[in-house]
Amino acid sequence: MLTATEKQRIYLSPPHMSGHEMKYIQEAFDTNWVAPLGPNVDAFEKEIAHYVGANDAVAVSSGTAAIHLALSLLNVNKGDTVFCSSLTFVASANPIIYQGAVPVFIDSEPDTWNMSPVGLEKALKDAASTGKLPKAVIVVNLYGQSAKMDEILRLCEEYDIPVIEDAAESLGSTYKGKPSGAFGKFGIFSFNGNKIITTSGGGILVSNDKELLKKARFLATQARDAAPHYQHSTTGFNYRMSNILAGIGRAQLQVLEDRVAARKRIFSVYFQELNHLPGVSFMPELEDTKSNRWLTALTINEEMAGVSAQTLINELTNQNIEARPVWKPLHLQPLFESTKYYPHYEEESISERLFEDGICLPSGSNMTNEQQMRIINAVENHFKARV
Ligand SMILES: *Cc1c(COP(=O)(O)O)cnc(C)c1O
Repeated sequence: MLTATEKQRIYLSPPHMSGHEMKYIQEAFDTNWVAPLGPNVDAFEKEIAHYVGANDAVAVSSGTAAIHLALSLLNVNKGDTVFCSSLTFVASANPIIYQGAVPVFIDSEPDTWNMSPVGLEKALKDAASTGKLPKAVIVVNLYGQSAKMDEILRLCEEYDIPVIEDAAESLGSTYKGKPSGAFGKFGIFSFNGNKIITTSGGGILVSNDKELLKKARFLATQARDAAPHYQHSTTGFNYRMSNILAGIGRAQLQVLEDRVAARKRIFSVYFQELNHLPGVSFMPELEDTKSNRWLTALTINEEMAGVSAQTLINELTNQNIEARPVWKPLHLQPLFESTKYYPHYEEESISERLFEDGICLPSGSNMTNEQQMRIINAVENHFKARV
């Protein structure tokens, strides 16, 4: 028989409110700023830009919208090519399709699980030899860990290709002391309910290029020309963040450092308790980087462990614990069938192995010690019960 607490579902990464959100929402109601845009939006943009060390930011309705705007600002159009990490959520690449462009997927490398500079270099060389370089490269920072930015930026500079840093999962992380999201021509963050801080739904585009972000604001509000009547010369979007949700974001941003600390603590407890299990390897943290450990991810070598990521996920699911496989690489998705893909090694695809062997454990910053011990016990018991 399960006890009441044992039955209670443990989620992978649920929202974690600070208690100060209502103050900003109330203010918006009191002043009747119940609309897209308003003082919370302006303040939230300034606060995020300041936190990341970027010149400006544009708050939008989702991280996906932010990526779409970035591609649009870089004039990615029908028939153009865009390179993108393969091991990521589909939202990284969907905006490439919105623009009628063609994605090319790049494998991960083992040190960060992120875009392989080796795969990227090969893809760039091939593209240069056919005279069709990509219009942009979308680099993802998986589960909070920054990609090898120095190597990737050097290659992209060599070929003069702008980088969009998909930092949806890595707000609060740093790479060589510099905040995640501040590396490319554009950085994007997501404030979806499962991210390290949330506005329930939302995203933001950051950049040092104020002129382009001015254009982002224009495009995100239906591209209205300066005229007393409604006049439009280009196709815009309705992508701006509402003043209510920006209020939630302001309160959340105040506790970001606490949230990062909590997720890192959760990671270290998992590491301490589970790293000795046969075949278990935790997602590494690259030297001179700080991962926010948005999700604790690890791989299980089935031969050594006698259990697999899949059997463990099934067992945790049976115990009402939400664990997930690592993202299914986009080059394996039916949606992107026959899309070009550049693996890290000729003979071995790293992202495919991570998908086979990888598991994400519940990592919410509001998870209790008891809940985490329940998960750890379930994992240990599954290993003990192996045949
Ligand atoms: C969550 C996420 C997004 C998309 O963000 P939304 O706000 O949900 O649109 C993009 N990329 C990655 C890597 C994500 O995890």
